[in-house]
Amino acid sequence: MDSTEPYRATGTGTPAGDFDVLIVGAGISGIGAAYHLTTQCPDRRFVVLESQAGFGGTWRTHRFPGIRSDSDLFTFGYRFKPWTGPPIATAEEILRYMGAVIDENGLAPHMHYGHTITGASWSSETNRWTVEAVRADTGETLQFTAGFLWMCQGYYRHDQGYTPEWPGMADFRGRIVHPQTWPDDLDLTDRRVVVIGSGATAATLVPAIAGRAAHVTMLQRSPTFFRTGRNAIAIADELRELQVDPAWIHEIVRKRILLDQARFTRRCMTEPDQVRDELLAAARELLGPDYDLARHFTPSYRPWRQRIAFIPDGDLFRAIRDGGASVVTDEIARFEADGIRTRSGELVPADIVVTATGFELAAMGDIPFAIDGQPLDFADTVTYRGMMFTGVPNLAWVFGYFRASWTLRADLVGDFVCRLLQHMQAKGLARVEPALRAEDHNMPVLPWIDPEDFNPGYLLRGMDRLPRRGDKPEWQHTQDYWTEKDAFPAIDLDDPVFVYR
Ligand SMILES: Cc1cc2nc3c(=O)[nH]c(=O)nc-3n(C[C@H](O)[C@H](O)[C@H](O)COP(=O)(O)OP(=O)(O)OC[C@H]3O[C@@H](n4cnc5c(N)ncnc54)[C@H](O)[C@@H]3O)c2cc1C
Repeated sequence: MDSTEPYRATGTGTPAGDFDVLIVGAGISGIGAAYHLTTQCPDRRFVVLESQAGFGGTWRTHRFPGIRSDSDLFTFGYRFKPWTGPPIATAEEILRYMGAVIDENGLAPHMHYGHTITGASWSSETNRWTVEAVRADTGETLQFTAGFLWMCQGYYRHDQGYTPEWPGMADFRGRIVHPQTWPDDLDLTDRRVVVIGSGATAATLVPAIAGRAAHVTMLQRSPTFFRTGRNAIAIADELRELQVDPAWIHEIVRKRILLDQARFTRRCMTEPDQVRDELLAAARELLGPDYDLARHFTPSYRPWRQRIAFIPDGDLFRAIRDGGASVVTDEIARFEADGIRTRSGELVPADIVVTATGFELAAMGDIPFAIDGQPLDFADTVTYRGMMFTGVPNLAWVFGYFRASWTLRADLVGDFVCRLLQHMQAKGLARVEPALRAEDHNMPVLPWIDPEDFNPGYLLRGMDRLPRRGDKPEWQHTQDYWTEKDAFPAIDLDDPVFVYR
């Protein structure tokens, strides 16, 4: 089969094709993986299977008003494709950027939408994965085989978000919606809207609907840190004015942003009180001297233990100052017919409740895995650098950064996987899996992420389904771009950690 020839589907259970690499998911990671394969391993036959009806992943799934990135697109964009717009981008702009990567690199023939992967099993006899996928249009189950699985399925369920159960929800007379499944017909005009949550989604949604609804209340259990600033990067504007090549601008601005972020992260660790005071001072400036900042925007955790969302041009704070939005910081006691009763007894009136309460973690795309007929539980494995897993052959997962842009890591993993595939081809090897070395056997085996370091709810709720980590950099996802950008290219592929056959 030609590397760009799409597979031919002929019927249920029919082998749909054999590929060198099968990429799961067509979000920013999957499209990046396809690009890296095309450019670094051009002789490999590969296919991208995606359950949704098109590419985009997160940026296709989320359609709530105001949906935008909270990272800058110079670093959330790929290393190889210059970003030419304002740093914080809408989902539509991000989708256009991803579409351009597909078009410019001839990736479309490899991508197959409406294919949900429902099973993956490895055979040591053939050294291949057999992947089952259900086609949305025909309901057929197709079988693919592949030498390597590149998991780009993200980390959460796309079909539904996480909504906690509160007492009295059935009594509420209005509508309850989750931002992940935003209804097209939702009319907010003159409605009182309560948005439950305090994360990036709530912070985006509240100012976006504040002008339309009668009033928007952000109801949060506890406050979150936010950063504000102009949706612009001075050096980018200056270089554009000088008509510098966009590829150079991309590279220079990435370096600038990364340096600034590294300094900020370091300061969060070394002088958290000062950083907190600065964040609060910026909020104070927009919210005014009388606003109860201590109650609504002063978290108890130290900055950076949770992602700090960026509010471009302070729009959330402006919406509050202008009166279109307000914040209630309290616990929910129960829903009532006309709103939400808090623990302190206040009734927050609502016609519509939006539960911006997070995600449902999906470990490995909720795909049942097996190795030589034995079910595989990823929670029984130890991760090699947050991308491969002990005892799991020929598989890599793209799990990006939380504190820096996800895509920075998608590019690093892309380089690593391509180097590994080239290495195996050069040596005539068909199988690789990471294994603990003799010196690793007494290593403590810990949860995927240290909750002291980073603790969003969806990870804490699902940690028992995720692979484990050790206490050495090789055996964990360090969440540290600055170390990994040098460490990944230097990985010795002949290290005993890699067991080849
Ligand atoms: C609203 C929102 C804003 C965000 N903003 C930022 C940001 O600014 N910066 C940042 O770094 N991160 C951000 N994130 C995190 C974001 O999810 C990641 O950065 C990134 O988009 C993940 O890309 P991905 O391609 O790895 O996964 P996803 O975008 O989750 O895409 C995975 C794809 O795999 C498909 N898939 C999953 N399972 C299967 C299966 N079994 N069969 C077939 N297909 C499957 C899914 O349908 C999906 O299309 C944000 C997340 C959300 C929800």
